[in-house]
Amino acid sequence: MTETKLREDICRLARSMFERGLSFVASGNISARLDEGWMMSPSGSTIGDLDPARLSKLDKDGAHVGGDKPTKESFLHVAMYEEREATGAVVHLHSTHSVAVSCLADIDPKNVLPPITAYYVMRVGTLPLVPYFPPGDMDLARAVREMASDHHAVLLANHGPVVAGTSLMDAVCAIEELEETAKLFLMLQNMNTRFLTPAQVADLERRFPS
Ligand SMILES: [Zn+2]
Repeated sequence: MTETKLREDICRLARSMFERGLSFVASGNISARLDEGWMMSPSGSTIGDLDPARLSKLDKDGAHVGGDKPTKESFLHVAMYEEREATGAVVHLHSTHSVAVSCLADIDPKNVLPPITAYYVMRVGTLPLVPYFPPGDMDLARAVREMASDHHAVLLANHGPVVAGTSLMDAVCAIEELEETAKLFLMLQNMNTRFLTPAQVADLERRFPS
């Protein structure tokens, strides 16, 4: 894929998420891998209105080499790329339902959401909770990095999800599946619910290995 096409795809998919209420002014960020580094939404930008020509370019060491200054949350993206070789794109959102779930007191920090649907199991699977740290705290970067080696999707406590994919479309589909599942999970609170059984989850993992 050419860099021009990748720039256009980042802006198109970001705008689509923004227009459907998955991100708000100056929240959420998106990135994609280049041969020589990464391309990322700029600091303070609204992902509904990104300019393909002004996306931030980082080299393989994470240094800013072109476009506007990268998002202050660039370390979340870099942690995923460095810990997961197959990562082609990363999306981070402050999407309402996922953030709400990240604030619940009684969730399992090893795996926050139950297997509600087959597509959630196939696109996200296990979702660990990263403990709360203030924005920019390097302990947050360290905690994400530790979990990223085993998980392509993590949920930051009282903050939001970070999801890596093999491509931009793959990362966007996975984070949207996560947000919709968080919404379903909240809708089902205090209702007698039938989740997928461990045997049904194991069957999906066999049929659709990640
Ligand atoms: Zn954030």
